[in-house]
Amino acid sequence: MKAIVKYALGEGNIELRDVPESVPGPHQVKIEVKAAGVCGSDIHIYHSDIKLALRPPVVMGHEFAGVIAEIGPQVTGFQVGERVTSETAAYVCGKCLSCRAGNYNTCAEKKLTGYVYDGCFARYCVVDAKRVHRLPENVDFIAGALTEPLACCVHAVLELTTISAGDVVAITGPGPIGLLCLQLVKAAGGYAIVCGTSQDTERLKVARSLGADLAVDVRQQDALEVVQGLTDGEGADVVLECSGVPAGARLALNLVRRRGQYTQVGLFGRPFEIDFELIAYRELRVTGSLGQKWTAWRRALALMERGLVNTRPLVSHIFPLTEWREAFRAFEEKKGLKIILQPDESAD
Ligand SMILES: [Zn+2]
Ligand SMILES: [Zn+2]
Repeated sequence: MKAIVKYALGEGNIELRDVPESVPGPHQVKIEVKAAGVCGSDIHIYHSDIKLALRPPVVMGHEFAGVIAEIGPQVTGFQVGERVTSETAAYVCGKCLSCRAGNYNTCAEKKLTGYVYDGCFARYCVVDAKRVHRLPENVDFIAGALTEPLACCVHAVLELTTISAGDVVAITGPGPIGLLCLQLVKAAGGYAIVCGTSQDTERLKVARSLGADLAVDVRQQDALEVVQGLTDGEGADVVLECSGVPAGARLALNLVRRRGQYTQVGLFGRPFEIDFELIAYRELRVTGSLGQKWTAWRRALALMERGLVNTRPLVSHIFPLTEWREAFRAFEEKKGLKIILQPDESAD
């Protein structure tokens, strides 16, 4: 089958290759990929600037939905033909404190589908049955391919941050992650202020259409003034930093009120300078967030099923798998929002 393979570490080193179809081993299922999302971390894999374990040659891709095509030995509870999506933790040690506490997303030994184990930028992908989740009937494959990023946001916003109805929540970065976080904030009853730059005009429009109470272009408006004006000068109860750029983090740290919460969702890819002392002076509660785990997947799917989160409006482009270069380029040029790749049967 045709697959997008990162064949060596270093800049680029990705190509469309013919690879053998993998066979599901014990406790595994083989999924026919119907839609796969291009993630920011795929671009980081392209540039080889990601701090997660990567083992080339490997088939890339970790966000997808599809249909069970084959069941390995000793799998129970799944049948061929079921519509599913899958978590990305292909290997965790099962012995460390994180694993034993159910927080396997922070296992130091964690190895991911699409990084170390072959991923979903191919016609078929084999994963452990215990990581597979059924798609609700009203969620199509394209919307379902966004379950992984949504689960990351559910983990950050609903598992690691406390949002109470009426809280003012500022979100820096209106990319797909910021817009998923926005929908979760609205579902939780928060007042959502999404901040972006002039490059993000289209994205800020989408933010408004997805329920943002305010969408601020920080080059046109002083975000701090806006937030203080809304909160009697106090600042936002919660900030969700989703931009992954230093300016976004500095802004977020300034927007949050004393004793408020700051949650880091985006990844920066490099160290940078920030006024860390503000955390002490403002008695902030700061938390990081990494990936997702079973509980977040369960909640993500429930939210989609009930229409509280709609991932479909985030999809701006759909490319056949063979046009992955165009897809990656569109991503890097910040064209649109979420980009989907679809394997083309006739190409194999
Ligand atoms: Zn991702
Ligand atoms: Zn572990």
